Amino acid sequence: MNIPELLAPAGNLEKLKIAIHYGADAVYLGGKAFGLRNLADNFSFDEMKEGLSYAHDRDVKVYLTVNSYPSNDQLEALSSYLHEIAPLPFDALIAADPGVILMIREILPDRTIHLSTQANSVNWQAVKFWESQGIARINLAREMSLAAITETAGKTSVELELFAHGAMCISYSGRCLLSSVMSGRNANKGECSHPCRWGYSLVEETRPGEYFPVMEDETGTFIFNSKDLCLIENLPEILASGVSSLKIEGRMKGIYYVASVVRAYRAALDSIKTEGDDYRLRSEWIEELCKISHRGYTTGFLFGQPEDVGQEYDSAYLRSHIFVGVVESVNSDSTYTVGVRNKITSGDTIEIMGPQMRNAAFVITRMTDEKGKVVESANPNQKIVIDLPASTAPYDLLRVSK
Ligand code: SF4
Repeated sequence: MNIPELLAPAGNLEKLKIAIHYGADAVYLGGKAFGLRNLADNFSFDEMKEGLSYAHDRDVKVYLTVNSYPSNDQLEALSSYLHEIAPLPFDALIAADPGVILMIREILPDRTIHLSTQANSVNWQAVKFWESQGIARINLAREMSLAAITETAGKTSVELELFAHGAMCISYSGRCLLSSVMSGRNANKGECSHPCRWGYSLVEETRPGEYFPVMEDETGTFIFNSKDLCLIENLPEILASGVSSLKIEGRMKGIYYVASVVRAYRAALDSIKTEGDDYRLRSEWIEELCKISHRGYTTGFLFGQPEDVGQEYDSAYLRSHIFVGVVESVNSDSTYTVGVRNKITSGDTIEIMGPQMRNAAFVITRMTDEKGKVVESANPNQKIVIDLPASTAPYDLLRVSK
């Protein structure tokens, strides 16, 4: 069976390296402008250059998002931006707006273009249209079913990319004015404030300020709140449909999310490749995805309309583990330097996460600061030096059970 590319989000240089460490085949990132995730860290020119060479040295592809919908007064800046990134060897540019695609063609005529999910391709005729325009890959809208994806693959020959994991819009991806209206932040320019996940009350129009709670359960109501997409249990059917790339959403999520999701999907795809017909889903992959913060999982529209099973009526994010640190280096005396991200205390049992689902539990009996002074606990942004199992490598993450 053809194993699709595993495409991971890279919100900054550290996330790019983590995604690659845990097994991504390709990453997508945004520059400081026109990339739809304006609130993510994003990459400066020099960071893009460094990220490209880091990824290409490891045979990992890098795609640049230019999938904003610019207004007339932004076109000049877009033109300058495209000229600025011209020397950078991105493997593809991801765009949605036909005007942006035309500008890429004019300024960077040899570049491969992928169509963003923001273009909302929901049927095979739309895919054929973009194929006829020379687009190399189409990201299918999350609203398509597996049957529609299979039919589309059969009627077209362009590469198809499918979101496999991550947050979903409650409306057609990004085609939503909620954020613009409620916070003045335009979702189609990368500024969404996610009001679909806020709690709502009822106000009678002549009684402003009098809020009637709407209670679907004891937590209130979250009427626009979608569960998160998770398709790891359905990979054999998805692969049989003919998609070329499985995309993970989440450039604004942290490195722990990137590491956990990439390594679970990597393990599943590798198992399909090596086991063929004997492939079986492992509970540890699903458990892994439940150890990160999420809002309950759904298969979205894959098997038809999700109706109420796709909606999350609780505002609470679920997670069973807390990410506490990242291994930064192995020292000459075989100790490890760890960048602390959440409080670590001597005596904690930590779990070390490595690629290929390598896990090891370890009790911290002694830790020092970088000058060798013994410390009992360490806080975010500090560095500590500890012993760890010999299999531990730089970029492995550490977590503790909640
Ligand atoms: S408010 Fe919600 S549905 Fe609307 S664009 Fe933002 S994330 Fe999507």
